[in-house]
Amino acid sequence: KISLQHVYKSFQKDTYVIDDISLEIFDDEFLVLVGPSGSGKTTTLRMIAGLEEMTKGNLYIDNRIQNDEDPSTRKLSFVFQNYALLPNLTVYENIEFGLLNKQMNQLEKKKTVEETAIKLSLYEKLNSYPNQLSGGQRQRVALARALVDQSSLVLFDEPLSNLDAVLREEMRTELITLQKMFRMTCIYVTHDQIEAMAMASRIVLMMEGKIVQVGTPYQMYHDPMHLDVVTFMGTPE
Ligand code: ATP
Repeated sequence: KISLQHVYKSFQKDTYVIDDISLEIFDDEFLVLVGPSGSGKTTTLRMIAGLEEMTKGNLYIDNRIQNDEDPSTRKLSFVFQNYALLPNLTVYENIEFGLLNKQMNQLEKKKTVEETAIKLSLYEKLNSYPNQLSGGQRQRVALARALVDQSSLVLFDEPLSNLDAVLREEMRTELITLQKMFRMTCIYVTHDQIEAMAMASRIVLMMEGKIVQVGTPYQMYHDPMHLDVVTFMGTPE
């Protein structure tokens, strides 16, 4: 479980881009952070990953306070926009990249990469390059790279944002299937409310550095607690 308690972030004096956020993320859930551009979704994700320091507040992972811990000890992986695969490396090398900071010999690495590739049906593709793969396969390589070091927490920052609508929908479905299969806890950032509704077990709507509402897709639609929720998420027919 992850817990953010009264978290603030400012890049410039006196302006908070994250302004008193408190939030719990439970094991195995698919939590979507949604909101307009500039609302603070990416900054929140980066603070959880330890890529950005909090200005104030506390972060707990499995009940251990993280504020002064070395962020590299957090067992999590970050998946970037468009999956950011390395085009000049093979699938094998892309997956192996996820083990960069692991103390393992070459043989152990090989075994771990191959086992992960088998689980994600990529074994046959280990010697291919990213541009030889379908969109779904590329997504699986990115996930393999995220999961190869045994992370159960995976953070996504708009991974599907540059894809066409048909592929995007296919990838959403596949990602949810894989999330369940691997029992990943996912925190997923998007500015697309339709994507949020389609994927989330719970949605967090952010605006101007604050959380407007947290709820299931059903609750956001049928029990909005603020006019902004209706405006952003839409209304039932
Ligand atoms: P987007 O969907 O556009 O990425 P977002 O909701 O993820 O938006 P953030 O990227 O978290 O929003 O940005 C929140 C605010 O913090 C914005 O006003 C942004 O300009 C500001 N910000 C983010 N990173 C920095 C930085 N490194 N230095 C200064 N300001 C920053």
